[in-house]
Amino acid sequence: MIFIFVGPPGSGKGTQSAMLAKEFGYKHVSSGDILRGLKDNHRIQKIISQGGLVPDNDIFDSLKSVINEYYSKGVILDGFPRTKEQANMLDHYCREQNYTISSVIFIDVSQDEIISRLQSRVSCTCCFAVYNLQYNSTCPECGHEKYAKRTDDDRETVLKRLEEYNKKTKSVVEYYKGINKLRSVRGKGNMIEVYSKVKTMMKGVAS
Ligand code: ADP
Repeated sequence: MIFIFVGPPGSGKGTQSAMLAKEFGYKHVSSGDILRGLKDNHRIQKIISQGGLVPDNDIFDSLKSVINEYYSKGVILDGFPRTKEQANMLDHYCREQNYTISSVIFIDVSQDEIISRLQSRVSCTCCFAVYNLQYNSTCPECGHEKYAKRTDDDRETVLKRLEEYNKKTKSVVEYYKGINKLRSVRGKGNMIEVYSKVKTMMKGVAS
């Protein structure tokens, strides 16, 4: 099984994917985490810090082996595909391997909400949980007070990421809508409320 989360930066794809993976034992695969983990690749780190998109092959090559390993258990793709070309690559690969994309969940959040959210998004330096200073002053998972901010969450880079989303990722949403795989969830509200909508959406799909 493959599930895909798509939505603008800061829509909560990562949070919802992680919650779903934890509850149902799926493998959460974040393309952003994989790319940020390639610390020695300065070309990729520079693209990320400027809010651009890394070339399609750089990310897909790393993803294939994870999909193969966890397909039978269920894989949640968070942040991939992000361009129409990536969606085509994934389709092609699924046909080749006889894999099915069970569902694509679109988290819909307004741009104003995103800009305000991302500027107060942090991650705990102890357990690495991602949380928002608008709602929590210390880590909601472990209580630790120290946090780090992602270098691409400053206002200027957020605007660039939104521009990339509008230019390149919106067509992915339209594509999955056109082939009847897309389910939309309003991403406003706290993460528990959104999660309950995601689960309702998934009913009957994950079988
Ligand atoms: P967000 O969804 O909040 O932008 P991610 O962690 O998913 O955060 O992605 C961070 C950055 O990693 C992106 O801005 C981009 O530079 C890079 N990235 C992640 N996924 C992809 C992808 N599928 N294709 C190209 N670049 C990607």
